[in-house]
Amino acid sequence: MEERSAKNGKREKTAAIVLAAGRGKRMQSDIPKQYMLLNGRPLICYALKTFQDSFIDEIVLVVEAGEEKRCRKEITEPFGFSKVTAITAGGKERYDSVSNGLKCVSSDCSYIFIHDGARPFVTEEILERALETVREHKACVAAMPVKDTIRIADENGFALSTPRRDRVWLMQTPQVFDSVLIRTAYDRLLQEADRLAGQGIPVTDDAMAVETLLHHPVRLFPASYENIKVTTPEDLITAQGFLKKIDPFREKLSGKEEGKF
Ligand code: C5P
Repeated sequence: MEERSAKNGKREKTAAIVLAAGRGKRMQSDIPKQYMLLNGRPLICYALKTFQDSFIDEIVLVVEAGEEKRCRKEITEPFGFSKVTAITAGGKERYDSVSNGLKCVSSDCSYIFIHDGARPFVTEEILERALETVREHKACVAAMPVKDTIRIADENGFALSTPRRDRVWLMQTPQVFDSVLIRTAYDRLLQEADRLAGQGIPVTDDAMAVETLLHHPVRLFPASYENIKVTTPEDLITAQGFLKKIDPFREKLSGKEEGKF
């Protein structure tokens, strides 16, 4: 594997926290979505495979409490995900899961990539772009400009305002941070979560924690429209289609075959 070096030549250690502790209620399935089969493999395996084959040094997998052993037996061991150094239990909210994951990341990691396990189509190219961006800005998020017009509605469903489309981006993951920055933000978040909730300030992702609590700017970098989060049943159909093009378990396509898509 190619060594990734910062400009000063020092080898930086990187870690990924892959989140798979959500219930995925919008999928309306008895099986949690991260274990639903996509081309015969549990959904969570796709993101894990991309991190495993990348420059990332260690992976912390966050699963629902009680699923840790099963994940080791049915996912990380059989698929050979040797970079998974810990499988830990998540919490009630996404930020509880991230916080638990952070506790398992080695203290000498420079950068931490936080990724939704339900996004199977993250690619090594996206990870490399993230690494370049985080080196420069300390905090960055994979994102894409919206294609449709977004309209803000009032509580009765009437259109209120229309933000400029060229300034509206869809947030994706990985969200990537300097490790000291994200650990500080999460320490603060755990102390202040109740106060923020009381003030109606939602902190639904990691970038918001860094912005809201540390007032540190977060750089958006373009990822891919294919980097979808599998959330509702129709996303599985879309995912089947994307798999013909982006399948981390398949050998890289030759240029000729790629031209078909
Ligand atoms: O709920 P949502 O689709 O936004 O979740 C994004 C990711 O965060 C999913 O991969 C999900 O498994 C994870 N998650 C988690 N712990 C929670 C809630 C969500 O690990 N409490």
